Amino acid sequence: MRTPTFDIYSVKTPCYVTEEEYLSRNADILCSVSKRTGCKILLAQKAFSMYSAYPLLKDRLDGTAASGLFEARLGHEKFGGETHVYSPAYSAEQMEELARYADHFVFNSIRQYDMFKNALSGKECGVRINPRFSTQKGHEIYDPCAKGSRLGQTLPSFEKEAALYGLEGISGLHFHTLCEQNSDALKLTAEEVERQFGGFLEKMSWINFGGGHHITREDYDIETLCRVIEHFRNKYSLTVYLEPGEAVALNAGFLVTTVLDVIDGGTDGEYDKAITDMSAACHAPDVLEMPYRPVLLENGAKPAGAAGEKNYTYTLGGPTCLAGDVTGDYSFDRPLKAGDRLVFCDMAIYSMCKNNTFNGMPLPSIYLARDGRAKEVKSFGYEDFLSRL
Ligand SMILES: *Cc1c(COP(=O)(O)O)cnc(C)c1O
Repeated sequence: MRTPTFDIYSVKTPCYVTEEEYLSRNADILCSVSKRTGCKILLAQKAFSMYSAYPLLKDRLDGTAASGLFEARLGHEKFGGETHVYSPAYSAEQMEELARYADHFVFNSIRQYDMFKNALSGKECGVRINPRFSTQKGHEIYDPCAKGSRLGQTLPSFEKEAALYGLEGISGLHFHTLCEQNSDALKLTAEEVERQFGGFLEKMSWINFGGGHHITREDYDIETLCRVIEHFRNKYSLTVYLEPGEAVALNAGFLVTTVLDVIDGGTDGEYDKAITDMSAACHAPDVLEMPYRPVLLENGAKPAGAAGEKNYTYTLGGPTCLAGDVTGDYSFDRPLKAGDRLVFCDMAIYSMCKNNTFNGMPLPSIYLARDGRAKEVKSFGYEDFLSRL
């Protein structure tokens, strides 16, 4: 279990703190996969775009993956290496500028490629395919293979447009179907992609396996991942790309919050409530969207329990007006009081890049920790709220 190395009372709350050491350990693991297999690994910036930490990553990753113009520009200017972009559809107004930053374009259909191909000479162009082969249950919102998905072309659609427009100039295929998964799911998906699209793979020079590979998780099976990559490399002479987001900054950061007040739960069996200066809705939206219950460290050291497991149970919630702005029920060895600090784990990913100022909530400051000290990289104020409205 990764715990904060810095003094949790030394920071202003709420704040996100990314630990250089933990990020670096993740980068080492990813780098060992690319060294071993010859694949290329890109940071999917939508999960983690804390660019002050990019210098730590760029020597071990090959570049970035962007979801559109702004991320492509960020990757190009702050990270370097290769800049890949995928969007369900590109807008004509943005294409010229986008072409200044990105070198690899992934289109959602052959038709989209055909629309823009004349503006993209010298670029690597690929098409996202969708094998409609789902290896996850629940979380439909995060399943690109869910029924009716608009993300990537199914085989019948791909074949139809290939006949209509041809495949000239298309040098790669891209699939992204996984979410927080192990390599057994990748293996099954890759076999299905091969079964459906194998004939087209012969004509390509690269394939992108997307993200969702939890490569830096303790129980991740790296051997199987490497075998899948090597199979595509050897059989089709393809350069294989991976573009993990989560895996890059998995368990590399924390969200530190202060308890503002504790409210008695009354007599009807409800838990006491603790209000924190962190809001799930504003500062960790995936807690409500996914939804999931983040691991919480009592005093930054040991994990809090489930409701009722330890002596003092609280429903933790944020300072907004949203009734559902509840992070979860947690139990502690000691009673909570105003001023106590709590630490939520694994908060570097899908947090900073996804937060908002609903209710006029202040945005958490951003810190980078090194050698046991947390240094503030950025803090936000009223101006940041004002400038968006
Ligand atoms: C979200 C996404 C990723 C990154 O996914 P993680 O689950 O964070 O690894 C990569 N590629 C595409 C196309 C995505 O949509």
